[in-house]
Amino acid sequence: ATIPALLAEAVAAHGDNDALIFQGGDERLLYRDFAALVDRVAAGLLALDISKGDRVGIWSPNRLEWVLTQFATARIGAILVNINPAYRVSELEYALKKVGCRAVIAARRFKSSDYAAMLRELLPELASGGQSLLFPELRHVILMDGEPDPGMIPFSRLAELATPDLLARLDSIAIDPDDPINIQFTSGTTGQPKGATLSHFNVINNGRFVTDRIALTDADRLVIPVPLYHCFGMVMGVLGAVSKGATMIFPGEAFDPAETLDVIETERATALYGVPTMFIAMLQELDSSHRDLASLRTGIMAGALCPIEVMRRVNKDMHMGEVTISYGMTETSPVSFQSFVDDPTEKRCETVGRIHPHLEVKIVGPDGATVPVGEQGEIWTKGYSVMKGYWQDAAATAGAIHDGWMRTGDLGVLDEEGFCTIVGRVKDMIIRGGENIYPREIEEFLIRHPDVIDVQVFGIPDDRFGEEVCAWVVARDEAAITVEVLRDYCRGQIAHFKIPRYIRIVSELPMTVTGKPQKFVMRDLMLGILA
Ligand code: ATP
Ligand code: MG
Repeated sequence: ATIPALLAEAVAAHGDNDALIFQGGDERLLYRDFAALVDRVAAGLLALDISKGDRVGIWSPNRLEWVLTQFATARIGAILVNINPAYRVSELEYALKKVGCRAVIAARRFKSSDYAAMLRELLPELASGGQSLLFPELRHVILMDGEPDPGMIPFSRLAELATPDLLARLDSIAIDPDDPINIQFTSGTTGQPKGATLSHFNVINNGRFVTDRIALTDADRLVIPVPLYHCFGMVMGVLGAVSKGATMIFPGEAFDPAETLDVIETERATALYGVPTMFIAMLQELDSSHRDLASLRTGIMAGALCPIEVMRRVNKDMHMGEVTISYGMTETSPVSFQSFVDDPTEKRCETVGRIHPHLEVKIVGPDGATVPVGEQGEIWTKGYSVMKGYWQDAAATAGAIHDGWMRTGDLGVLDEEGFCTIVGRVKDMIIRGGENIYPREIEEFLIRHPDVIDVQVFGIPDDRFGEEVCAWVVARDEAAITVEVLRDYCRGQIAHFKIPRYIRIVSELPMTVTGKPQKFVMRDLMLGILA
């Protein structure tokens, strides 16, 4: 299958179903109307001489134009490049140079980022209709909203450019399931984001299997507060929903717990996605202000270690008795493990479930050999979902994929029944005085303290022990808790060498745009504080 075929199937089977709703409900399109609009935008791209294999960058928070662009580029075989909404000029320059985009489609602004101004700065030739010297391949900048600058094209113009001839041409574009369709950047949790090249086949199948596991149907209404720029939004969210003809509901441009809960209530949503930090924020919001979430049934928590305590509360307090965890990475389209809605609650809370269909897994020890069941090692996965490679980076690709196996860089354990427990990233393991310490264990312990809302544990270099344990804690009430209280709480409960030597109470944790805590940033800040 291809992405255009996926949408055509959805229209044939569920044409009169709502395809998507954006917060407030004023932007609401049926599948049939959405697909018709996609075709017009696709024809508009052809009018601008954008064709198969060309890269088209998208730089925007969650908006209708994002989803339209996702399908319109696929319709003409162009490769969509997701540019991180948090990027600034120098990072944009890096991304554009790396992939050689022919066009960039951007929102005017998002939060404090003025995308139009940054594009103008990078492409001063645009205004006079000239060619960029820095980016010889770049021909068009398309602005989603507002009055476009000289040289930029308004997004609304694309549909106007769609002539009957161009529309007729769409069906003649030969698209192969194995063609590259996206260059998806990873979250940048551990450093510079990496661009994974994925095919139609990669992402369509993954989207399907992800929503199979939560038994999504055309009667479901799925809330997607995660960014579209990341695989969680664009694959598990959009492609997963379209494969079932389900309705997608987007609460807003940036995640807001109150807004998300409101839209669940008003739209009678049945399913919800989020990373752990989002669920933590929603639970906290619910503590202070009640919502009727009776329509909710299922969803997915993924993207980072999911604290067991938080999963339990989501099951119980958010009316999501069928919520699942999934585990994956951008490089594997993304999901490889997920629970089923009817797995026992403790399995759904404590593990990431079992392997997806048509994939293989092995747990590998430091010597490269597969370890026995019940023992921990690095997770390697293999199958249809593994990316084609990092975009034009053969060395990085060779480092990541061995013989078809993706080395995930994550530590896990499989049990007899095939359920996988994620221990954490290989890189995050702390070695203190010769003891291996897994941050997750300490995090799971600290988050059970009633005054602790969120916590991240990481190692920092230490002269005496090699590394020391450091914890950053977000407290329910900063006045009510002290470092000493937390240390006392640990004493006698966890081994002395695991008790964080340094604890810092903070109001928030440094996060990626995808809502993942960035330990490398915390470590650098902490070293600065201690220096
Ligand atoms: P970067 O590779 O740029 O440092 P990243 O690894 O966070 O960032 P993604 O591809 O978005 O980029 O995320 C994949 C990673 O997220 C996995 O390798 C894993 O570490 C983590 N992850 C995803 N799902 C889970 C989960 N359910 N439990 C624990 N960790 C998870
Ligand atoms: Mg990664």
